[in-house]
Amino acid sequence: MSEKIKTVRGFRDLIGEEARKYRFVVEKIRNILEKNNFEEIILPTVEYTKLFTRSIGDATDIVEKEMFTFQDKGGRDIALRPEGTAGVVRAYIENKLYADGTYKKLYYEGSMFRHERPQKGRYREFHQVGAEVLGTINPLADAEIIKIADDILKTLQIEATIEINSLGCKKCRPKYREALINYLRQHREELCEDCQRRLEKNPLRILDCKVETCKVIAQKAPKITDYLCDECKTHYRQVKEYLKALNVEFVENPYLVRGLDYYSKTVFECVSKELGKTVIAGGRYDYLVEELGGPPTPALGFAAGVERLMLLVKELPPKKPLVFIIPFGGEKEKIEALKIAEKLRQEGIRTELSYREGKLKKQFEYAAKIGADFAVVVGENELQSGKFPLKNLHTREQKILTLEEIIQTLKNLS
Ligand code: ATP
Ligand code: MG
Repeated sequence: MSEKIKTVRGFRDLIGEEARKYRFVVEKIRNILEKNNFEEIILPTVEYTKLFTRSIGDATDIVEKEMFTFQDKGGRDIALRPEGTAGVVRAYIENKLYADGTYKKLYYEGSMFRHERPQKGRYREFHQVGAEVLGTINPLADAEIIKIADDILKTLQIEATIEINSLGCKKCRPKYREALINYLRQHREELCEDCQRRLEKNPLRILDCKVETCKVIAQKAPKITDYLCDECKTHYRQVKEYLKALNVEFVENPYLVRGLDYYSKTVFECVSKELGKTVIAGGRYDYLVEELGGPPTPALGFAAGVERLMLLVKELPPKKPLVFIIPFGGEKEKIEALKIAEKLRQEGIRTELSYREGKLKKQFEYAAKIGADFAVVVGENELQSGKFPLKNLHTREQKILTLEEIIQTLKNLS
């Protein structure tokens, strides 16, 4: 036998129930977004690497160590997208979606790639459904975005804590940054190597470090909410008021910073109680459009991690009942069975035609094995009388019915 080839490390197949769970989660999120009048945008999987280094920030984990980058045959530096927002913003600018003066509500779905250490809920290819609102500073939008995340969790029956914070703006964040650096410098020796490097370059990242000693230090750091300017304070207060009006439960976490550099003002994360990991996360990025060469455009959004949500979905809705059509006899019966199967499908009934030959007993065994709920035998006698045995494979009960009656019976079930 030849050598077997496996999936690449950190990549995986979604088979059967897993694939159905994937579709279930994505469909639920899409429905909620469509209801909120978001429009889908389908984006390329690869972008120029500099789109991500410029947007996500070069002192972030994603850019420093997690990106899948390569050169194409023309020597261009290209990356498999590690997230979706940068691509949406690139498309927004490239296609001048700002030109008509309306704000845009867009959503995307697809694979993201990050070279991380694979573990439960962390893969090198994973999927996100993300939503972005571009062109508004109104805190109503912040509240509605968080409300959508809350809706997703409720619809999927997932228990999570919504943590929120404000990261301020260009006016107030520098003062906080300074205060944070001053505090962290006193603890330089206790910080992990990565954080010692981050100290001057990107001190806010230290608040997101997963190393235990850094976490302890971060817990006593100055809080950004004490440094917000009046505008950011008001914005944050309004977001909280609107969330309360919507009955969205949240907790304030003044140390929440997110893993990407482009955020400003509101940020939030939904942390699963069961997994202890973030399943949906997002926030405002009021400078990103301008930084990527577009007109100044405040914006915000979130991304939902499909695999992590899948881990938390316990039950899938039952599939439609399956009927197994068994041709019994020769060519004539096969052709009739072929037509009957087609007719049932046209009626919306989930139908499989048997490709097996042989004894009826074996056929019924096969039907049970593939999870069929009913079987119909199409033989010479049945064709002559116009009546067919519809066998319930769970109760073993059998009814002799016309094709029309079979269709009605099965339709009433699904
Ligand atoms: P974490 O802190 O867990 O690494 P993150 O801050 O890097 O998350 P985001 O970039 O905000 O995550 O992505 C949004 C969501 O996408 C996460 O909350 C998570 O559900 C999911 N996600 C991120 N990275 C992965 C991964 N490697 N595998 C599976 N899901 C992921
Ligand atoms: Mg990460």
